[in-house]
Amino acid sequence: MTATKKTDKPPAVDTMPSGTTSGTPQVLLAHHLKQLKLPTVLREYDKVARECARDGVDHPRYLLRLIELELIDRERRVVERRIRQARFPAVKSLDTFDFTAIPSLNKMLVLELARCEYILRHDNIIALGNSGTGKTHIGLSLGLAACQKGFSVAFTTAAGLVHQLMEARDERRLLKLQRDLQAVKLLIVDELGYVPLSPTGAELLFEIFSQRYERGSTIVTSNLPFEDWTSVLGSERLTGALLDRLTHHVSILTMNGDSYRLKQSTGNRRPEATAEQNQGTGDTVDPDTGEITEA
Ligand code: ADP
Ligand code: MG
Repeated sequence: MTATKKTDKPPAVDTMPSGTTSGTPQVLLAHHLKQLKLPTVLREYDKVARECARDGVDHPRYLLRLIELELIDRERRVVERRIRQARFPAVKSLDTFDFTAIPSLNKMLVLELARCEYILRHDNIIALGNSGTGKTHIGLSLGLAACQKGFSVAFTTAAGLVHQLMEARDERRLLKLQRDLQAVKLLIVDELGYVPLSPTGAELLFEIFSQRYERGSTIVTSNLPFEDWTSVLGSERLTGALLDRLTHHVSILTMNGDSYRLKQSTGNRRPEATAEQNQGTGDTVDPDTGEITEA
């Protein structure tokens, strides 16, 4: 925020009672705009006033310009807050996703999903495929799109979510966490399949999917085909019931192919060590610049 230069010393804003008529208009204006939570108007009014005076713009249009600036900034702040609340491990978008690298993935379907209408229908998405094929990237991108479209999002891994649920249960705040998870418009559960879950963990995860069924959208990514999900969830009965709910209204993204990580690492012909270092961290190496991008 740029401080407006003042020649006379302003009285302390904090001590100014609201509605008072004393003090310079700028000080009062600053006070009132802060109270009304219009930071952009406060920051811009002087500059825009000078521009409007120079261009011969009348007062209603001056006010309109200022208010429009505030609205644009407010929307941006809201989106930023939603992105922070989603707890994405990294912010990724479809702009940086190379669809030609993964021909098994239906690009049109992904673009359609990025419009977020499935969230209004409370439908789900499941991305299946081997490691390094961009499942997390797609999950993050769809999560970002949802934030930008005004939906609340929460991103977690299956193991992380189960850990959170177990911890909440031990601390007798499971109901609160379940309610919070139910309230979010889009829940993204990444990496179902890498870690087998304990029977309690599987039950707790099932409850989350069950509570969200037809009430909110869930994205699940997994390296395992459906027939192997029992190996993660332990029980065939539970897996059946979970899949039944999850796949009732679902778009399935098939993402089988070469690992993008591996291709990137070998493609840039850097020393073996670099490729190895990058494995497991999810980092990618730009083949042109050799720059390492954190996952
Ligand atoms: P997965 O979750 O399937 O194991 P990731 O989404 O973590 O794979 O992808 C590994 C890395 O490769 C990430 O840095 C991701 O951004 C990148 N990546 C994967 N596929 C693509 C793609 N088609 N275009 C651009 N980057 C990709
Ligand atoms: Mg992943």
